[in-house]
Amino acid sequence: MKKLIPISSRDDILPEYFNTPIGLLLEYHNLLRPHASYPKAELLIGMCMDNRKYLKIPANFSYIIRTGGANLRHSEFQTSYAIAVGQVRHIALIGHNKCGMVNLISKKEQFVNGLSEGAGWDKEKAEIHFSQFAPMFEIGNETDFVLSETKRLRLRYPKIKIAPMLYLVEDNKLYLLKED
Ligand SMILES: [Zn+2]
Repeated sequence: MKKLIPISSRDDILPEYFNTPIGLLLEYHNLLRPHASYPKAELLIGMCMDNRKYLKIPANFSYIIRTGGANLRHSEFQTSYAIAVGQVRHIALIGHNKCGMVNLISKKEQFVNGLSEGAGWDKEKAEIHFSQFAPMFEIGNETDFVLSETKRLRLRYPKIKIAPMLYLVEDNKLYLLKED
């Protein structure tokens, strides 16, 4: 948690993000800034599919790609679309604590049984499905993953400003992540 930068006033927003759509996201969500109206999207948010998270942002303000663990490696076309066609120039990548994409192997039995009992899958097929995809979607550690994914995206999209963040499910606030 030593990498978290709490945002409880506008002064807490790092200068590189101040007065950008990234800073505005922090103001809207954490500081309850009154909503402006947006004719088009200003931001792309990458965040986890997890149900515990809800962002307080204006209508039309942002594209949102939700995936397991805020992992955009398998959503590259959608990311490119938001930049190329949607004309956004800023990305907020939001991981969260207690993410289900950490230590996936520990959930194998639950996954296989759940798919078998809940969806009518053959157990053997469910096991193959898990073994095939779990390594692709495992993120290891939420904070480190968001930081490394931010670095990867910056190399991929060099003109786009990208900020790594963490959402704490206990207080429902966004935190900026300190980078080395
Ligand atoms: Zn998650």
